Amino acid sequence: MEIRTFKKVMAANRGEIAIRIFRACTELGIKTVAIYSEEDKLSLHRYKADEAYLIGKGKGPIDVYLGIDEIIDLARKKEVDAIHPGYGFLSENAEFAEACERAGIVFIGPTPEIQRRLGDKVSGRQVAVEAGVPVVPGTEKPITSEEQALIFAKDSGYPIIVKASAGGGGRGMRVARDRKELLEGLKSAASEAKAAFGDATVFLEKYIERPKHVEVQILGDKHGNVVHLYERDCSIQRRHQKVIEMAPSLYLTEAKRAEVCDYAMKIARAVGYINAGTIEFLMDKEENFYFIEVNPRIQVEHTVTELVTGRNLVQAQIRIAEGYKLSDPAIGIADQDAIQLRGYAIQSRITTEDPQNNFAPDFGIIKAFRTAAGFGVRLDAAAGYAGALITPHYDSLLVKISANGLTFRDAARTMHRALQEFRIRGVKTNIGFLERVITHPVFLEGKCDTSFLDDHPELFE
Ligand code: ADP
Repeated sequence: MEIRTFKKVMAANRGEIAIRIFRACTELGIKTVAIYSEEDKLSLHRYKADEAYLIGKGKGPIDVYLGIDEIIDLARKKEVDAIHPGYGFLSENAEFAEACERAGIVFIGPTPEIQRRLGDKVSGRQVAVEAGVPVVPGTEKPITSEEQALIFAKDSGYPIIVKASAGGGGRGMRVARDRKELLEGLKSAASEAKAAFGDATVFLEKYIERPKHVEVQILGDKHGNVVHLYERDCSIQRRHQKVIEMAPSLYLTEAKRAEVCDYAMKIARAVGYINAGTIEFLMDKEENFYFIEVNPRIQVEHTVTELVTGRNLVQAQIRIAEGYKLSDPAIGIADQDAIQLRGYAIQSRITTEDPQNNFAPDFGIIKAFRTAAGFGVRLDAAAGYAGALITPHYDSLLVKISANGLTFRDAARTMHRALQEFRIRGVKTNIGFLERVITHPVFLEGKCDTSFLDDHPELFE
């Protein structure tokens, strides 16, 4: 296979992940192209690229970044070699990947076929089952009637979780502890998923009480080589959405770590995985793993894996898309043993949300913005400056802080210090809440499961 060296890459995204992509490109000597909406005309991602173009006239603020035809037309006109979709927006849209291919532009991510096999939860589960990887007991097919749901409930017992096949970000999910909740959950999960993802398909899984969320980062090249970059623990969640993530997990024995990484590799090999992806699992109290889904894209929390492996995942994505082998010097992963863990890393997501008001998003102009820096602190941000306007149009992620250290305690202490150093005035943030979590004894012992925040309402005050 020939190598197609990129001269110019577009980020079909906004915010911190667009900037993350531009930084990776600049270091590789690749020119960068940003797109932005009218609402984003003052956003930092626009200024961090070599070229930036306003698109989506007359479209809603989200739809701007979903406009496949317009994005591809612009990319063609500006002689873009490849498009990085980031996370969210078009990142898991197989049609977009196909449209890129048709236009002769490389999509930096898995092929449309791989996206289709893994992108939705129902088909992802089928792949896992075929690959011999345990899944949460659940329905093989989407649920199309109340009767089907009640039959599953009779066989498996409650609690049950209703899940949207297209779901993401904790949306389209309902826990049901009895028949009434199940029937209600079917309707509300389907309508939420229809509204958010344009797809009302739902299925059922047994609800696992107090699981831990363990996910494995993988990288595959276009020549059939795949490696894993070990796991992240993302058990600290609010409403099934990740709040704090870490790598590696604190509680897995070497045998358990090998087991979950092996499951991830089985799935990656089964589909001939290409580019970066994450295979997500739940671990129950008896330490059994269950596959839940694949995210065939870069994830928000990829930074912690970068910090403990020293591997630049976004650059690896670009090199893979150019056609390099993992073992080529351009990527430099000769084999699985080349991936070594060093120390611990933790990521906190600072959001413009008010923890005392049920995490309602807050808006306005940032009046003061003093950041943390120093040993062991990495920041990924987009709206991080005094004078920045926080609008209600997009998600409330403001800054990702990633802290690392040789021990978990070191990383946690650095994170705490970084949070203390931050000063953000003008909009409410969750910094105080993050500080309370990061200093909590259960957190420091690495014992948090996905119910941790529900168990500790005092953290929100
Ligand atoms: P999303 O795509 O919305 O992120 P996931 O399927 O990845 O949804 O699940 C997100 C979180 O929801 C998990 O980390 C876990 O906390 C919870 N969850 C999902 N499935 C189950 C289940 N079967 N039992 C218990 N919790 C679950």
